[in-house]
Amino acid sequence: MNIVGLPSLIDTYENYIWILYEGDKAWVVDPGESTQVIDFLNQNKLNLQAILITHTHFDHIDGIPGLKEAFPETVIYGPAKNQHHIIQTGLFEGDVIPLTMNFSLTVLDTPGHTANHISFYNDQALFCGDTLFTAGCGRLLGGTVEEFTQSIIKLRDLPDSVSFYCAHEYTEDNLKFALLVEPDNEALQQRVKQPLFKYPQIHKGPLSTLLEEKNTNPFMRFDDLTLKGKLMEHGASDSPTSLFKTLREWKDQFDQQA
Ligand SMILES: [Zn+2]
Repeated sequence: MNIVGLPSLIDTYENYIWILYEGDKAWVVDPGESTQVIDFLNQNKLNLQAILITHTHFDHIDGIPGLKEAFPETVIYGPAKNQHHIIQTGLFEGDVIPLTMNFSLTVLDTPGHTANHISFYNDQALFCGDTLFTAGCGRLLGGTVEEFTQSIIKLRDLPDSVSFYCAHEYTEDNLKFALLVEPDNEALQQRVKQPLFKYPQIHKGPLSTLLEEKNTNPFMRFDDLTLKGKLMEHGASDSPTSLFKTLREWKDQFDQQA
């Protein structure tokens, strides 16, 4: 399976629209726009089979009408919970979407960013929308802090080798915050030295791996002993939810100052 990320809403939200393709077939995850997707599909003589939606914020769905017009046979999958009218086939946790003979994606409930956010994964790839970002995580815009914490713990249980695809390019800012909260994390120090991806180019392949996120993304590490100590100094109690909540609030403050 080939996977590329097309930049979308480049001057504002810095989204990625992920396109999966093999042979003459393609699938699209979270199209917030349609023009560049249609161009890419036509240039590569690809037929759009389905659109997969992690949650229904406009920057993830506004491209659907244009895509549907260009490819009327396309099926639109998305969360079954509080199902948005634009979603044709509602998905529950454990549902499997077979893309090819050898590549299916399974649905995971990952509420927190929104109350009905879902992710798609298999043993090779994770599409987690706005739940986790490279070195960061999404904001609480509808789900509860308990749900968000459990969603991250769920994603942390996936294998290290899984490739990581999220919906926004916020790496640079996220790494600044990560280094602020975990200055002594050696894996993070190494990651910060890597050249940043030159967004808005087309991103070929994954943004990172789950191993890299587990080692350097503070939102996957809130119960790491050193980070936990620091969060408890910031008022957290020794529970996953409280540690995550304190870290998320700290990041919100950091973003306001930036
Ligand atoms: Zn969102």
